[in-house]
Amino acid sequence: MSIRNKICRLDRKGHKATMVWVKAHCGITYNEIVDQLEKDSIIDGSTIGIPLNTQDQQLVLKRNLKMGWRVECSKYCQTNPTRYTMLYPMLPESYWHNNYKIPRKYLSIIIRTKIGHGTFPSHLARLNLRSSDLCDACEEHGDLDHYYFGCSRFLIHSNILYNNPLKCGLAAPLNTAYIFWLNRSDVVFYIAQFIKNSGMVI
Ligand SMILES: [Zn+2]
Repeated sequence: MSIRNKICRLDRKGHKATMVWVKAHCGITYNEIVDQLEKDSIIDGSTIGIPLNTQDQQLVLKRNLKMGWRVECSKYCQTNPTRYTMLYPMLPESYWHNNYKIPRKYLSIIIRTKIGHGTFPSHLARLNLRSSDLCDACEEHGDLDHYYFGCSRFLIHSNILYNNPLKCGLAAPLNTAYIFWLNRSDVVFYIAQFIKNSGMVI
């Protein structure tokens, strides 16, 4: 409607305007310019002032929000090097655990391990919820690495967790940061197996 009005207006002013089909993407200068303007308008609707419909507005908002989060997340990770930000220096496209069919109770333990929080002695002692940071069973420093690889209660399963990555041609894991840093689905599966079989709860 708007284009027809403009043609009528030109007509009233004595200019002759017609509409013709032009082959796209064949290097015609003004057609390429129009094509680019149209692409820009799809991105944010601002370039040529065409209001977007609700669905497109939602897409644009979602995309802009994601871009904003990505920038803020990246800034945060650079200024706050934690166990988790070292593993995920960028905002992932989707939740990593969407790719795995792992029961929720094991998944929760994996997430707590990634963050470095849980009911293991060193963390509880750090929060003043426990007087000692030593493992009850071994009297060694009860951190995550001890629970996964050194605790006498889980040793049989720790050995399996230690050896499985070797089958995939990877270096043997010596700590939990390394096994998650690998970011491999087969290794995450081995970790879930370890949690399930050992009965470890953190
Ligand atoms: Zn122990």
